[in-house]
Amino acid sequence: MVSKELEQKIDAFIAENRENILKDIETLIEIPSVSIDGEAGAPFGEGCKKCLDAALAICERMGMATKNYDYYAGSASIGDKEKEISIMGHLDVVPEGNGWSVDPYKMTVKDGFIYGRGVADDKGPAVLGLYAMKFLKDHNIPLNYTYRLVLGCSEERGMGDVKVVLEREKVPTFMFTPDASFPVINGEKGIMGAEGRFAHDGAHIVDFHGGLVGNMVADRCTVVLKGISKEDLGELCPCKFDVEESAEGLVITAKGKGSHASMPAGSVNAIWMLTDMLSKISALSEAEREACAKAAATLTDYNGVGLGIDCEDEPSGKITHISGVAKMEGNELVLNYNIRYPVTVKGEELTARLESYAQAHGYVGKVLKDSAPSYRSADTAEVKALLSAYNDVTGKNGKAIVIGGGTYARNFPNAVAFGPEFAEMKNPAGEGKGGVHMADECNDIELMMKAVKIYIYALLNLNELAL
Ligand SMILES: [Zn+2]
Repeated sequence: MVSKELEQKIDAFIAENRENILKDIETLIEIPSVSIDGEAGAPFGEGCKKCLDAALAICERMGMATKNYDYYAGSASIGDKEKEISIMGHLDVVPEGNGWSVDPYKMTVKDGFIYGRGVADDKGPAVLGLYAMKFLKDHNIPLNYTYRLVLGCSEERGMGDVKVVLEREKVPTFMFTPDASFPVINGEKGIMGAEGRFAHDGAHIVDFHGGLVGNMVADRCTVVLKGISKEDLGELCPCKFDVEESAEGLVITAKGKGSHASMPAGSVNAIWMLTDMLSKISALSEAEREACAKAAATLTDYNGVGLGIDCEDEPSGKITHISGVAKMEGNELVLNYNIRYPVTVKGEELTARLESYAQAHGYVGKVLKDSAPSYRSADTAEVKALLSAYNDVTGKNGKAIVIGGGTYARNFPNAVAFGPEFAEMKNPAGEGKGGVHMADECNDIELMMKAVKIYIYALLNLNELAL
């Protein structure tokens, strides 16, 4: 429990450092740092290299001990204890994309918000974690652990940075990543990649493709049919399907509604729309209609029923599945599936269920990738320490939650994701903007200062534990 007197010191520290916090975030925002395949000495490109140099210079200015893991990542630490507690954020960002109303690589301050690529994911949050450590250092708090801020350079592109950090540093006793939301994310579902292959005879279907990436519900799907006329289709709602004649044949595109694979509720899969529609076109061959019906059946829900793998558990709720990409190979429709499964479910069991269900239903189902879930019980002292930091500062009664997304935490034996996004943050940027990975990515300055306070409380709470 943080005393009133200590709380006043924390508030004063945050007030004094407010401008510096924003200045340091600005320094990092001004260095575009999308992770790419770089060269020796800059494994994730020059941008990430420059950004890490700038971040480590900020840490050195604060008098922390810094390390550079050959530009895969870097770190800054305080204390000299054997056991370590680490905070891991990342300096790489996703590409800026289109639709910005401000320069993505100049930090803009407007109406209590900051804008720029990385202000929320994850340069801003990394700096907030750094200032929590600075508080402990400036106030000579007796440290029972070494505290290390780790700055990764390739979170957004496969997390190739984590492997190097784990080779060079001992595994932290506990780690949290400020790369998600409050109150605390104590579990991440398993993430499985699978595919279904639906064979037909190619009598009319000459091409079939949908979606862009495996982890987004496909919002477009197109088929090219030879020897089929518009009349064969009957009435198709023009708001859901585009139909065009071309030299290759009749081109039909289904228009659905995308969403991230970890949160498919409310989405409409264009691959499902198109295969379901095609399965009812009597002018197609029987083999084609059957292949489409089987493919469509896998996507009639997004909670595993269509793949024969429905399951749920108490901490994580239901399994989810989506198809993000569809294509044609020879005379086979090939659908990819992105599956997020509950933390207590075993990947091998799910694999067996998926593959045998496919066989029983006349298609080939195969699991291609499996990243096991990660889970820390909400009853552990570490998770409780973080939760009480959040609850003490906000006056709320927040609970630990399990998400379908993946953060750095899943790569460590004892780790969770912790803030700094608040559910109550307003979005001044408008629909489809303002969030992480979006145009006009923004962050609320007042809430960021509150996050620093929560992080300081969290470190003070953790410091009291015998882990
Ligand atoms: Zn991130």
